[in-house]
Amino acid sequence: MAKLQAIRGMNDILPEQSLSWQYLERIFQGVVRRFGYQEIRFPVLEQTELFKRSIGEVTDIVEKEMYSFDDRNGDNLSLRPEGTAGCVRAADQHGLLYNQQQRLWYAGPMFRHERPQQGRYRQFHQFGVEAFGMAGPDIDAEILQLAASLWQDLGLTDYLSLEINNIGSAEDRQRYAAELTVFLQSKVEQLDDDARKRMHSNPLRVLDSKNPAVQEALQGCPQLGDFVSSESVAHYQQLQAMLEAAEIAFTENPRLVRGLDYYNYCVYEWTTESLGAQGAVCGGGRYDGLVEMLGGKTTLAAGFAIGIERLVLMLESLHKIPDSALHPVDVYLLVVGDKLAAQGLQLAQQIRSHYPQLGVVAHCGGGKYKRQLKRAFSGGARLAVVLERDEEGSEPLQSLKIRRLDDSGESETVPIDEIIPKLGEFL
Ligand code: ATP
Ligand code: MG
Repeated sequence: MAKLQAIRGMNDILPEQSLSWQYLERIFQGVVRRFGYQEIRFPVLEQTELFKRSIGEVTDIVEKEMYSFDDRNGDNLSLRPEGTAGCVRAADQHGLLYNQQQRLWYAGPMFRHERPQQGRYRQFHQFGVEAFGMAGPDIDAEILQLAASLWQDLGLTDYLSLEINNIGSAEDRQRYAAELTVFLQSKVEQLDDDARKRMHSNPLRVLDSKNPAVQEALQGCPQLGDFVSSESVAHYQQLQAMLEAAEIAFTENPRLVRGLDYYNYCVYEWTTESLGAQGAVCGGGRYDGLVEMLGGKTTLAAGFAIGIERLVLMLESLHKIPDSALHPVDVYLLVVGDKLAAQGLQLAQQIRSHYPQLGVVAHCGGGKYKRQLKRAFSGGARLAVVLERDEEGSEPLQSLKIRRLDDSGESETVPIDEIIPKLGEFL
């Protein structure tokens, strides 16, 4: 029978790659813990309406990219294409938002039916943080400081740059959109189908078109910056001052509007040149209107999402993952001879309880010394402990050998009751 394959654009993450993921997850969790953010978990499946209302009907995600279907009850559901909508839905449903301040984070798979390529998949994963109940710009600066700390801890600071923009309030953007539509109408010949469709329904989305011809047509278009309110400008200027004080470098990008409708005031994106076309690693901003759009009370809100696959690609291609994170086995016990199996398991357990930070594997399944040693090397262990019958054949074993699995090949035969301290010397 033919073997079944995974769905295109949905990746298996095999044990070796999981080590990179786990390393990144540990660092991320360390950072959010230090900033006092708490984890929230919510379903991968929600009512389609949730995403239509929050992300916006006239967006790439809702128009083309969602995995939506009717379930057996006839309810229209969608796999989540991003985390903010579900996070807000869950937090509001459980009363975490009204009159409160929250600092939350989440991690997990997201689903978008895009064209799969390097750094762009149909199931991908995000880390996100969302903060509620704070007017900013201090919380916006804190969130960017959190991202900057993550890059710092991962050794990626030099490879990422921050772009920010002030997109004003929903009303500001409405006034701007009207002017932009007039401008786009005057350039209609140069626009593609998408842009023509959007110049009426959602003209701002034309600004982040990836079509160079459309970008060309946009030369000389009205600038959003000329339409934003003085409150929004003040917020933006204060944010910039705080970023400068925190020594977080940034550039302003007046074209940055982001793909989702729910943002207001400041939006931002961290991008890298080390990934080719898929350079966006982290995007976010304020979204003070979203909770209300989803039926809750007006709630101040801000956050970002990070693409985990793109970060892993960066870490791997730049060799930023420490060796220790890539070798889960530290000590490999070679157990040569059937009768030593029980003693091997017992000794491994003794080593684990004395050195709980180590990965300790006792060879299972028998086999010759040479084959077992090969396994020890291929598993990346640093040390081998060899249980092998000595000449007198005494049982249980009275002594064993510790061997360094590096170029030195240094080894020592050790009485069995000295193995624990001796291992400590070898480590
Ligand atoms: P892009 O411009 O690359 O399409 P986006 O603006 O659609 O990104 P967001 O919705 O802001 O992305 O999601 C936040 C992050 O999630 C992105 O910066 C990116 O790192 C990651 N991401 C988004 N879509 C995908 C995808 N299909 N595959 C892998 N990662 C993705
Ligand atoms: Mg996208």
